[in-house]
Amino acid sequence: MQIIKNIKDLKKTLEKIKNSNKIIGFVPTMGCIHEGHLSLIDISKQNSDITIASIFVNKAQFAAHEDLESYPREQESDLKKFESRNVDITYIPEDNSIYPEGFSTSISLGDIALVSEGKLRPQFFNGIALIMTKLFMIIQPNLSVFGEKDFQQLFIVRKLVRELNIPVKILNGPTIREVNGLAMASRNTYLSEEELKIAPFLYKSLVEAKNCLLKNDNIGDVLARTKKELLNNGFKSLDYLEIRDSNFKLINKASINNSHILISATLGKTRLLDNIRIE
Ligand code: AMP
Repeated sequence: MQIIKNIKDLKKTLEKIKNSNKIIGFVPTMGCIHEGHLSLIDISKQNSDITIASIFVNKAQFAAHEDLESYPREQESDLKKFESRNVDITYIPEDNSIYPEGFSTSISLGDIALVSEGKLRPQFFNGIALIMTKLFMIIQPNLSVFGEKDFQQLFIVRKLVRELNIPVKILNGPTIREVNGLAMASRNTYLSEEELKIAPFLYKSLVEAKNCLLKNDNIGDVLARTKKELLNNGFKSLDYLEIRDSNFKLINKASINNSHILISATLGKTRLLDNIRIE
């Protein structure tokens, strides 16, 4: 596995690969690699000749009060994990090569960046759109793989490449979970032993809500019940609990089939995200 830190070296390597007409798959990450990330690597490997993974904690998507400084960084073990899954190139850009002094360009996604997760983190998706556009321009991959775990992010990346005519195919991979149902996430490392016992209840409550909705229980009642149960079971707050269709439109009454229940709840100091498809 090649580890590349600067754009010039990456461009040189990519030129050779592109000249040989190889298909390039790209998996962007913020590191602290777990099986969820590695499952996306596997999907990239199945669909391309060369797989590039990146590790970059993107400051543009963090607000001043958020955890940019303390975000888990585990570079050495991340590289071992990538190597074990046969990643061909890991790109670890230096911060000032992505955002050099004087950098001022921004991307505004409009309203979609301000609902659900964006309501709590108004800068988040515009920051993701910026880094994804930059990484797509630098690497120019044929395809790129994203996790369904971050359902709104996946929707937004698809919208971004469509609306900016970025020639990359977006593939998605299912959410990888611990045996107890907890969706794997880098921020799970923030959870205490006690909180780790409570955390799986988030997914359990989603499954329960889905089953009730499929039995045609009233949506309002189901959402209220789910909220109450989460709070009763040790979660500090429910940040949002919504049902959205494949166009990310909020659903209240109409057909719920093929839509997603999206949830975010806070456990101690950690906010957990999850979602489930209703089918
Ligand atoms: P992150 O490092 O958190 O920015 O995530 C990088 C990519 O991994 C994104 O496409 C995420 O959606 C995806 N991802 C994170 N957790 C999981 C998971 N548990 N299962 C599948 N994909 C995931």
